[in-house]
Amino acid sequence: LYGKIQTTMVKETGFYDMLGVKPNATPDELKKAYRKLALKYHPDKNPTEGEKFKQISQAYEVLSDSQKRGVYDRGGEKAIKEGGGGGGGFGSPMDIFDMFFGGGGRMHRERRGKNVVHQLLVSLEDLYNGATRKLAVQKNVICDRCEGRGGRKGAVEMCISCRGTGMHVRLHQLGPGMVQQVSTVCGGCQGQGQRISHKDRCKACGGRKITRQKKILEVHIDKGMKDGQKLVFHGEGDQEPGLEPGDIIIVLDQRVHPVFTRQGENLTMTIELQLVEALCGFQKPVQTLDNRCLLITSPPGDLIKPGDKKYIMNEGMPMHRRPFEKGHLIILFSVVFPEANFLPKHKLKELAHYLPPKKEGEQSESMDDDLYIYVDLEDCDPATVRQSHYHYMEEDDYPSPGGVQCQTS
Ligand SMILES: [Zn+2]
Ligand SMILES: [Zn+2]
Repeated sequence: LYGKIQTTMVKETGFYDMLGVKPNATPDELKKAYRKLALKYHPDKNPTEGEKFKQISQAYEVLSDSQKRGVYDRGGEKAIKEGGGGGGGFGSPMDIFDMFFGGGGRMHRERRGKNVVHQLLVSLEDLYNGATRKLAVQKNVICDRCEGRGGRKGAVEMCISCRGTGMHVRLHQLGPGMVQQVSTVCGGCQGQGQRISHKDRCKACGGRKITRQKKILEVHIDKGMKDGQKLVFHGEGDQEPGLEPGDIIIVLDQRVHPVFTRQGENLTMTIELQLVEALCGFQKPVQTLDNRCLLITSPPGDLIKPGDKKYIMNEGMPMHRRPFEKGHLIILFSVVFPEANFLPKHKLKELAHYLPPKKEGEQSESMDDDLYIYVDLEDCDPATVRQSHYHYMEEDDYPSPGGVQCQTS
């Protein structure tokens, strides 16, 4: 009979705030939050928000690892920085991004051009029925005027400053017998190892060897695909001379639906009933995601209680790649009670005749006035409850069972 109040005790909430989630967020909620923010603040889209991108990445790196998350919850950012949870310090934000979005990571980046990640907003209807969307993306392509040379044939000269290596190597004396080798990118050629004199530079790309091009991608959304699902267009990412092109990765982002919530292959919805409907039966039309109209029926004689859950078979989401199999539609019922004084008092007595009888010993008629203390019932105001002391108590510290418990939600 204990009223359970869920309190998550965390030392600080900075990482959770950074991702815009509550401290009791599930791994799925964390993933979703990271996905949205990382795409929004990725340097390709928001070059001035590098610091924010880094912070989002660090917060996700810690909270997505259950061990590190535990350390953070108990000791805060300080505990993480002191190396708690194994492996102090943070990974590179780009590596975490690439890992999350399925890019090859650092290993492949040297041989392949960059992957480009785009988010595509879709409706639950799109995921139910399938859809095709055209998406315009900007990408780097090898300049076709100069075929990626940057200039006229024969105009490309080796950079004298770095002798074509693109790097400058300096030896730095640290102390007696200790020398450090420091490599820096050649400023004369920006690491290209070659130069093109101004007059020979390709007019189309300005000597950069690549141009920006708009490309229309046709994205096929299959029935049953999920929010967060990735569609990979191999080799459609940025091109760079001498590298294999990267991929374009489309991440589906499902808009919240006003009626249905998806839970795996099932859909859930809430139907609000008037008391008369709950007691005496009802018929309610429900529009499906493919525009059919289901008539939800509870015949007179059946009865729906507040909180009852019913389901309709095969009216959930189609399974991905098996679209003829569907999940279920789960309906949660709530019941609206009438307002106070909806019936005059003498009519209430009449109504009472039709309802199941009160329990023995609880009828006021049979009670002896001298034995009882009459008390007033007050409304439980959520604001008052929030301020009351026992909100912060653990379940163990709870007053004895049978005490007053107010539901918090
Ligand atoms: Zn060119
Ligand atoms: Zn150079």
